[in-house]
Amino acid sequence: MKEEMPRTLVIRSVLEEAREIRAFDMMPEGARGAHGLAYTPGQVALLQVGAEQPAYFAFASAPEDEELELLVKRTDDPASRMLYEMKEGERVRLLKIAGHGFALDGQKGRDLVFVAMGTGVAPLRSALRHALSRADDFGQIVVLYGARTPDDFCYRDETESWKAAGVELRQVISRPDGYEWSGQTGYVQSLLEHVLPNLSNPVALVCGSREMIAQTRDRLQEMGFAPEAILTNY
Ligand SMILES: Cc1cc2nc3c(=O)[nH]c(=O)nc-3n(C[C@H](O)[C@H](O)[C@H](O)COP(=O)(O)OP(=O)(O)OC[C@H]3O[C@@H](n4cnc5c(N)ncnc54)[C@H](O)[C@@H]3O)c2cc1C
Repeated sequence: MKEEMPRTLVIRSVLEEAREIRAFDMMPEGARGAHGLAYTPGQVALLQVGAEQPAYFAFASAPEDEELELLVKRTDDPASRMLYEMKEGERVRLLKIAGHGFALDGQKGRDLVFVAMGTGVAPLRSALRHALSRADDFGQIVVLYGARTPDDFCYRDETESWKAAGVELRQVISRPDGYEWSGQTGYVQSLLEHVLPNLSNPVALVCGSREMIAQTRDRLQEMGFAPEAILTNY
């Protein structure tokens, strides 16, 4: 179904998710009950915030969640900076929904390996929540998640429920100095070699910067992944 765009989104609530990262729950203006937008997990919203240059924010909510959720990091980008400071009741414009997202229906029966860095956890969470709502369709679900420091991890309240649902979660930080951290350090790609040998027929779902995606793709291909078993959301 083609969505009518642009739409006005109203901020329903704002939550501090991690250092300089806030989660915004939003609803299309006039929506009753659920948000009613059609999107694929991992797709990205192009938002007009005030008069700033429009910017991309991946949906962090699964399509079947009641509200739309976006993760916003405070960066130098003017739209991110302005949205980061917005409060309940304020409005933004959804100009379009972009990227192909992750078509999980085509991956039934396979092990899912999510690989995400930074705010790439937003599209990861969208697809993971969708996959967990139909977990019998998939094999093992692995989440590899990298951030700068322990304070930069989002969804710390939710990760326990991911593990309780059988998800193998591995986290890595790239700047350990000054933190108590007994886990691994480095970039998220370094975790791949620890989990991949134990999987059968896996597909990788990669969420990150262009550089991270290129490096992860190379690493996966060196480890024997076929190009079509490496998916990105945009
Ligand atoms: C399609 C699209 C969607 C976007 N969605 C959002 C969104 O939902 N929310 C938002 O705030 N911004 C979004 N942006 C904007 C963009 O991602 C911002 O630059 C972002 O906020 C940067 O912060 P970060 O936390 O993702 O990454 P960073 O803070 O730069 O990095 C996070 C972690 O990744 C590690 N890292 C750095 N380089 C690599 C590498 N090469 N390989 C592996 N790990 C590495 C870092 O060390 C750190 O651990 C989007 C942009 C595009 C193009």
